[in-house]
Amino acid sequence: MQKIKILKIGLFGGTFDPVHLGHIKGALQLKKKFALDKIIFIPAAIPPHKQPSTITNAKKRLDMLHIAIGNYPYFEVSDIEIKRDGISYSIDTINYFISKYQKAAFFFITGFDAFIELHTWKSYKKLLDLIQFIVMARASASRSDPEAMKTEISNYLKKRIDSEYKFFKSKNAYLHPQKKGVFFADILPADISSTNIRLAVKKGEDITGIVTEKIADYIKKNGLYLDPV
Ligand code: ATP
Repeated sequence: MQKIKILKIGLFGGTFDPVHLGHIKGALQLKKKFALDKIIFIPAAIPPHKQPSTITNAKKRLDMLHIAIGNYPYFEVSDIEIKRDGISYSIDTINYFISKYQKAAFFFITGFDAFIELHTWKSYKKLLDLIQFIVMARASASRSDPEAMKTEISNYLKKRIDSEYKFFKSKNAYLHPQKKGVFFADILPADISSTNIRLAVKKGEDITGIVTEKIADYIKKNGLYLDPV
């Protein structure tokens, strides 16, 4: 009997305003670490937690993602949230992909900062009935120790999601008897954020090294991030 290969797919949601090397280098490391067959970058039309008037138009954010993923054959960009328009809820996107690829194992990718805000997402408890998560450690001015992030996730899951989540050191994952697992990736892609890039552009600072050269050119040609926020 022919064995059917189950694809391992990472869904990487975000605003990507703009996409930067933290996103790309993080995704490359996760692809390898979790043997993912592909990672789909999904820019939000209107992210639930951000002011729509301050976000760059969706077409430009989408263009930048296409440029940034370049020729990596295992990276894709989906315009599903942009086509759906309005506020983008991850639960709707996850349901869409689960019904589109029936022979796949999905992982929703977030940074540490986004994951510990999960309780503010629509139907957040349901999300963990549907999909596994990969949480990337994320360095910031106030935090850089992956071990401390791990403990914080453990407390967070128990308090906000379900007390039966337990950490398994051998898998570097939080598992639950019924719900989906949460895998911790102690890669620290670099302390880069889109916010810092937008501020740097406004101040006329150099952004090479934190976005790809082509993205820096696109930002310049299109006059992005020059207006007061
Ligand atoms: P902003 O500064 O505008 O909030 P951002 O840099 O956090 O943007 P997003 O597009 O909002 O970028 O991020 C999408 C996802 O990628 C989120 O889950 C976020 O936590 C994660 N992420 C972004 N940058 C990094 C990074 N440098 N390291 C690890 N995770 C990151």
